[in-house]
Amino acid sequence: MIFFSAEAQLLKDKSQFTRQDTLRGSITPEREWWDLTYYHLDIEVSPDEKFISGKNTIHYKVLKSKQVMQIDLQDPMQMLKVTQNGQNLDIVHDGNAHFISLNKPQNIGDYNSIVVHYKGYPREAKRAPWDGGFSWKKDNNGKHFIATSCQGLGASVWWPNKDHMYDEADSMLISVTNPKGLMNVSNGRLRKLEDLGAKVKSHWFVSNPINNYGVNVNIGDYVNFSEEYNGEKGKLDMDYWVLSYNLEKAKKHFKDAPKMMKAFEHWFGPYPFYEDSFKLVEVPYLGMEHQSSVTYGNKYKKGYLGSDLSSTGWGLKFDFIIIHEAGHEWFANNITNKDAADMWIHEGFTAYSENLFLDYYYGKKASADYVIGTRDNINNRKPIIGPYGVNKEGSGDMYYKGANMLHTLRQLVKDDELWREILRGLNSDFYHQTVTTKQIEDYFSKKTKKDLTAFFNQYLRDIRIPKFEYKISDDVLSFRYVNIVDGFDMPIEVEIDGKTKWIFPNSEWKSIPYQGKTFEVDRDYYVYAKQVN
Ligand SMILES: [Zn+2]
Repeated sequence: MIFFSAEAQLLKDKSQFTRQDTLRGSITPEREWWDLTYYHLDIEVSPDEKFISGKNTIHYKVLKSKQVMQIDLQDPMQMLKVTQNGQNLDIVHDGNAHFISLNKPQNIGDYNSIVVHYKGYPREAKRAPWDGGFSWKKDNNGKHFIATSCQGLGASVWWPNKDHMYDEADSMLISVTNPKGLMNVSNGRLRKLEDLGAKVKSHWFVSNPINNYGVNVNIGDYVNFSEEYNGEKGKLDMDYWVLSYNLEKAKKHFKDAPKMMKAFEHWFGPYPFYEDSFKLVEVPYLGMEHQSSVTYGNKYKKGYLGSDLSSTGWGLKFDFIIIHEAGHEWFANNITNKDAADMWIHEGFTAYSENLFLDYYYGKKASADYVIGTRDNINNRKPIIGPYGVNKEGSGDMYYKGANMLHTLRQLVKDDELWREILRGLNSDFYHQTVTTKQIEDYFSKKTKKDLTAFFNQYLRDIRIPKFEYKISDDVLSFRYVNIVDGFDMPIEVEIDGKTKWIFPNSEWKSIPYQGKTFEVDRDYYVYAKQVN
């Protein structure tokens, strides 16, 4: 997802949660007993009617012997019938959750499947991708230009599935029928294109685990160009699907894509989906991290629609959407949060990746300028981590406060090779997994050999930014932290007469001898520094 102003966050803000939120956001007993293995989503999209219909075949492995299964599909979409081995099954509808009674015994270890038939006029996106659904737009030639986006809202807004982040299909086939003259581009690789007379049917196969919100349909008057990228894991197909009249523009502008791949493979390790290729797909909204089909709508401009989120100028060195959304291939698609409350794992690391891209091409100072510049986007009104179990993400600070927290942590590690090893290690040790914040915290503590409990509590679970207070008097420097959680004692670097020195503040005043003329706190640490005498 893309950073948006506090306004959008507040629109979505709520403190009261309903039973529907719990059904959607928790691992209910009707979800927990089965492990999702495979989806075959097979739909027809009718652009003139803004209507879709079809079915999803859901394959699963039985973990516990139970008979009732929860499948999600949001109003106004209609679940028409569900079958297993050709037999119709009973369904109890409870809002957007549908409880299906299976007839045959579900034996532990068995691999079974159900077929869910559905249809409807899916919710239209109001402000994609933040307030998503189907975008039914037209291109400059008046041709249909259609795309889905559903992060947060959930994929069940347009197709029936197990709509919780913790469990991913191990692979997936997406089959889409649409009018001839238009092409559908979904995730993974195009396996087959069928000519059905007035219609065409495309079959896209994803051979890796995929999160629900990453699944997408994009239909338009597309043309395609591609290149082969020599990456860490060998040859990677990079494919670009753009509107026919944007081809020449895209060929020039998308040079940022291989540049991105080079920088991110350096920092994070091999692109996590070589088998499925990498794609950029033009869409009628700003963009989204759809796995192996990253969607693009930044109007072929540098920065974020031509502007720089850091206000330093560095943000205009790259196309924000290409860099940010592709960064999510590592953090969001490879390493995925189990609960939406931990969405900073997607956005904090990916916002941070923007400055690592700059670091790779323009050096450390440029990257520090950028990430420090983005501090102006931080509100500190709500914690980064949201409430668990109700499908609710934390505050928008997960982006740039998250990025500045990681930038601060890099200073504490003070060893860029180790830092890079940790970032790459996360991507190999949690390869294709869903994780919790705790797992990420523990990983950093282990790899840095530091107890980072208070550090993460401060930045992820509290809204206060540590205030570093200091006094200089009579050859003595005194300092302490205020506005901190219990146990927060982050070492910090200061410059005395241009020379860097580590000091070790905590909540109590400490003093050290001081003969300096100039004193400065290293700006790389996200703290407020204040002289108090
Ligand atoms: Zn994002």
